[in-house]
Amino acid sequence: MNVSADGAGGPPEPQTLVRREGPASTLILRGARLMDPRVGLDAARDLVVRDGRIAELAEPGGAPEIEGAELVDAEGLLVVPAFVDPHVHFRVPGEEHKEDLETGTRSAAAGGYCAVIAMANTSPPIDSAAVLGSVRERAEREASIPVGFIANVTRGMAGAELTEMAELREAGAIGFSDDGLPIANARVLRRALQYQRLAGGVIALHEEDPDLSAGGVMNEGEVSAVLGMTGVPGVSESTMLSRDCSLALYEGARIHVQHLSARSSVEEIARAKAAGVMVTCEATPHHLTLTDEAVRSLDARFKMNPPLRTEDDRKALLDGLRDGTIDCVATDHAPHAAEEKEVPFEEAAWGVTGLETAFSALYTDLVNPGVLSLELLVERMTSGGEPFGIAPPRIEVDATANLTLIDPELTWTVGEEGYESRSHNSSYAARELTARVLMTVADGRVAFRQRSFALGVAG
Ligand SMILES: [Zn+2]
Ligand SMILES: [Zn+2]
Repeated sequence: MNVSADGAGGPPEPQTLVRREGPASTLILRGARLMDPRVGLDAARDLVVRDGRIAELAEPGGAPEIEGAELVDAEGLLVVPAFVDPHVHFRVPGEEHKEDLETGTRSAAAGGYCAVIAMANTSPPIDSAAVLGSVRERAEREASIPVGFIANVTRGMAGAELTEMAELREAGAIGFSDDGLPIANARVLRRALQYQRLAGGVIALHEEDPDLSAGGVMNEGEVSAVLGMTGVPGVSESTMLSRDCSLALYEGARIHVQHLSARSSVEEIARAKAAGVMVTCEATPHHLTLTDEAVRSLDARFKMNPPLRTEDDRKALLDGLRDGTIDCVATDHAPHAAEEKEVPFEEAAWGVTGLETAFSALYTDLVNPGVLSLELLVERMTSGGEPFGIAPPRIEVDATANLTLIDPELTWTVGEEGYESRSHNSSYAARELTARVLMTVADGRVAFRQRSFALGVAG
């Protein structure tokens, strides 16, 4: 198993990814371009998966015959290690009309993901071992790919009293977060960091100063001034981030900063890493490809928290992703019901879906024009579990098969054939994108294949 807890340092790692039992797959992908930058692989090969494990990487045409194996003619197609998303919202328990574990994991598999980490701002929130146990049980029945569950830092996400972090960790929490809300009280976060050091499991932080953000609905800048909307300044994020990095350094604790959006935040992270803070961070496809110019449309599919910022901020995120200041790509997949989005921009719910479009959007807007290399994108999309002790999948013999089969030439229109997600609030809706995930193998099993993509069966 290569999507597994690495167990390095700290107390013994509990089983943090929940898997559904099921039969392993046997298949042969013939003649695909296999790319895994971590093992220095970029070559046309026949890839043999036998009983869920990568059994062989043969010269094209050299794969053995295996009775009953599914045969895929993959010439001209690309196979990369499947992606890991450290930040999704699956709305379980309480808001299953927006997304549940079945639709959420299918949406993830459709985007090429083999594992995801689900946030805890549910209804009720995941702030007790009882709620955590019930969502883990549901995932064992409903999830088509492995899911790690975050538990809350504070009870009821009220930002005051800590949860039983050690007990939650033992019950399988992959980490801790009050995402959706910042932890405004520095004393509360300091205590949480002290417990994190004992319990293990990184604390993931939604960085925002509630006083600086108050009343804001979009980025504070030229566009908000023109539209007459109250803005959220970038420093709302970076000042809080700076405070929290200082606290993490002081306590010797480990933090993961969610959805970086501002240049000042990238600069703070770079300084913190240089100073020895144990901090990792993520950026979303929407912040990497879009700016607040999109908000001129007043379309609520461009409303999320943190908001889309300026071209200068976007460039800083790209530089951060390139030089490793930003560790990984996270979608912050946030499904909402149509009635919460089809209202005036100021009143609309925060958040956009993202799992099904992440790779294609980044490939279309960044790889195709030569802004980012495909290798770098694959690295940053497969490393999302690392802050939580989950090693990136690899394409090597004996590894559990976690693979994404992609047609890099295929163009498709987002939403034209519907979505696997129960919600449709995508920033890329109706956009024509290049490159599409055709099939995903997660934890040794075919978890998804596009309807238009048929497989042959040998024997
Ligand atoms: Zn957040
Ligand atoms: Zn979030």
